[in-house]
Amino acid sequence: MISNEPVDIEKAARAVKIIAGLQRELITRIQTVGDCGPFLAAVYDREGRLIAKEANSVVQDKCSHCHAEMNALKAAERKLDTFDLAPHHVSLYVTAEPCIMCLGGILWAGVDAVYYSVSSRRVEEITGFDEGFKSGWMSEFKKRGITVYGEIETALGEEALRVYMQLGKKVYKPR
Ligand SMILES: [Zn+2]
Repeated sequence: MISNEPVDIEKAARAVKIIAGLQRELITRIQTVGDCGPFLAAVYDREGRLIAKEANSVVQDKCSHCHAEMNALKAAERKLDTFDLAPHHVSLYVTAEPCIMCLGGILWAGVDAVYYSVSSRRVEEITGFDEGFKSGWMSEFKKRGITVYGEIETALGEEALRVYMQLGKKVYKPR
């Protein structure tokens, strides 16, 4: 696990539990329903209540913006009836490191913290998805007061990506 602040055992334990649950759900969904890309994200409030959970739906929705993080943040904003999540003190949990687009989306949404599993480097190695250029984003988030913990429960996260690839699902890329 890596982070942009000293590791808080409680935050880390909560993140492991939530992310492992997302990964298991994602694997089942890819294997049985097959209606999503291989990424799942969830927004929780600081009391630990789930606000929104969404998968990547780029192919299904025919929209290049429909990454799991963007879908989950949009659903959370709708549910809380706001364009700014900051007053609600929410955290975003996601099965892989956010891509270049989602980093911007996360900043504008106003989350307190981001917890992710598989690194972009491993996502690119396993699947061929392009995650974009992202230099020093964790320290940039720290400057803006956003907590980041990464590479949480990576074995199960990588398994979800392998299952997706083994089933011959679509890998799309920007040109
Ligand atoms: Zn993304």
